Amino acid sequence: MILRPHSFLRLYSSTAGNGLKILRTISEVRAWRRTALESSQDVSLVPTMGALHSGHEALVQAAKSLTDKTIVSIFVNPSQFAPTEDLDQYPRTLDSDLELLTRLGADAVFVPSVEDLYPSGIPLDQSRQVGAFVTVQGLSEQLEGQVRPQFFRGVATVVTKLLNIVEPERVLFGQKDAQQCVVVKRLVKDLHINSVVHVVPTVREASGLALSSRNAYLTEQVRQDAAVIYAGLNQGLELYRSGETNPELIINRIKDTIKTKFNDIEYVTVSDLETLQDIKGKIWPIKGALISLAVRVPNQFGDQTRLIDNILL
Ligand code: AMP
Repeated sequence: MILRPHSFLRLYSSTAGNGLKILRTISEVRAWRRTALESSQDVSLVPTMGALHSGHEALVQAAKSLTDKTIVSIFVNPSQFAPTEDLDQYPRTLDSDLELLTRLGADAVFVPSVEDLYPSGIPLDQSRQVGAFVTVQGLSEQLEGQVRPQFFRGVATVVTKLLNIVEPERVLFGQKDAQQCVVVKRLVKDLHINSVVHVVPTVREASGLALSSRNAYLTEQVRQDAAVIYAGLNQGLELYRSGETNPELIINRIKDTIKTKFNDIEYVTVSDLETLQDIKGKIWPIKGALISLAVRVPNQFGDQTRLIDNILL
């Protein structure tokens, strides 16, 4: 028999291995959720785009420790990609994702279709999109939003849809995407969504490189060189700990470290933890700060891949 992509999904139509329920429609998720509620079991949701790695694994493990039931969603969300971005190229590894989730003991996985999640359709060109979308004003335009103006509208929209469908007691995100965490926390607060947001620390390779599904685009050499990104962030942290509170000097130290390997630094920013506005002049230790950055590195397709990372001061 020839196994095509997603064969695992078809072979194990509703349950994989020891009890991972594969839910493909919104009504299946709602029925699963209702059963949990009827047996007084609380639920954590871990939203992902698949191509699961140890970073996602940490979220699932944290979820399992928080609630009776854990559901993971796997959905490569078109609305957060610009027409020029890597939606088609984004790694899709559903068979091994399902195997990993089975091994981890997740209870259910939601693998929706684009049509189900976007009943009004979802052209990538934002000017042609119709229907309901969610924006979190004031937190979505800076940092990643400056380079990817459509990104957080897409994230906020899909997260709202998933929270409305699953209605989990808890929802988990990785600190790796720090701005996403701030945006989602505000979304949940302002829209009175009845879920608690948890942030799980970034999982890294031994070299310090933050794990990311997009690391699969890199050559081995670039992957090794990319350790310089976290090394740079740590140099910034050390400088701050030695008493330096001028964000410009901290940023310069980080850039100098990264430039030993990569020249295309998109941004390195020291921001307020709540407003995500640039901190000018002085970092106040009592308030802390977020250093975040994006670097473009060469990839194996002769193009560039953006790597993002951050550290808390
Ligand atoms: P993604 O599949 O890339 O959309 O990520 C799904 C979730 O996993 C998001 O909350 C991410 O922040 C989180 N995540 C991705 N990479 C890591 C990592 N290296 N460590 C911790 N969480 C991560």
